[in-house]
Amino acid sequence: MPILVMKFGGTSVATLDRIRRAAKRVGREVANGYDVIVIVSAMSGETNKLVGFVEETSHLYDAREYDAVVSSGENVTAGLMALTLQEMDVPARSWQGWQVPLITTSAHASARIEEIPTDNINAKFGEGMKVAVVAGFQGISPEGRITTLGRGGSDTTAVAFAAAFGAERCDIYTDVDGVYTTDPRICDKARKLDRIAFEEMLELASLGAKVLQTRSVELAMKYKVRLRVLSSFEEQSDEAGTLVCDEEDVMEANAVAGVAYSKDEAKVTLVSVADRPGVSAAIFGPLAEAGVNVDMIVQNISE
Ligand code: ADP
Ligand code: ASP
Ligand code: MG
Repeated sequence: MPILVMKFGGTSVATLDRIRRAAKRVGREVANGYDVIVIVSAMSGETNKLVGFVEETSHLYDAREYDAVVSSGENVTAGLMALTLQEMDVPARSWQGWQVPLITTSAHASARIEEIPTDNINAKFGEGMKVAVVAGFQGISPEGRITTLGRGGSDTTAVAFAAAFGAERCDIYTDVDGVYTTDPRICDKARKLDRIAFEEMLELASLGAKVLQTRSVELAMKYKVRLRVLSSFEEQSDEAGTLVCDEEDVMEANAVAGVAYSKDEAKVTLVSVADRPGVSAAIFGPLAEAGVNVDMIVQNISE
């Protein structure tokens, strides 16, 4: 069977009623002949609540325990989605990250995906399971600890599954009906884009447009995943939403695709940095290893 990946974000699974609505969409794709991998986020607000609990309990918290706590929101929605599908007579089973297993690096709270073996889930598809519901945002480190992929990480889980399983498409269902020229909740003149190139989406995401996690766009570009962003609240035609695709496939490309903003940047200035080869690597190498994302680098004449 061809495989489809469908990801539902927090607002799309915020109540049991919305989970049922999402499950109906999944049921329709199963009826269309797909084996479906559903990636779910935690119910809207849950992850923030869990992060708050961790910070209140321990100011300089152990990141391994942070991951143990904040990953739990997705476990709830994965089980509930599988149950809802079963109630609709769709054979479904839930999977936590470690059960797949979705193997990541050990960079807790901002882990990167290393590998997604497909055998376990494919074996279940072979036995007649039609939907694998996978908890987004979480994985397991080589040391056997639960990890998370950074805020918004379920998008990345979805694209990574689409790449690993050779899915026909990866549909990201969210609370807006596509990618806009800027955040439609901030600017009512924002226009929906029918298509946007991977490179443009990557820039928008990395500069703050949280509609897709940056890493998910990187992965989609690398593995040529057909990535679509669409609303889980409206009825959708096949052409709905925004297709994130190769530059050649964007007709009527604009000189400027959009505007993004970000409210949580930290600016760090290093002074008296020696002007010799190897110094940049000495600064940025350890940052990359620690999973610290450097957005914008401005280099002045050394003092
Ligand atoms: P989900 O919970 O489904 O993952 P998110 O809240 O992470 O949803 O992302 C969707 C939100 O991204 C929208 O509600 C919107 O406010 C915001 N957003 C920011 N920039 C854009 C943009 N250019 N186009 C669409 N949405 C955007
Ligand atoms: N629940 C996680 C978050 O709020 C992951 C996600 O929704 O993508 O960041
Ligand atoms: Mg999100």
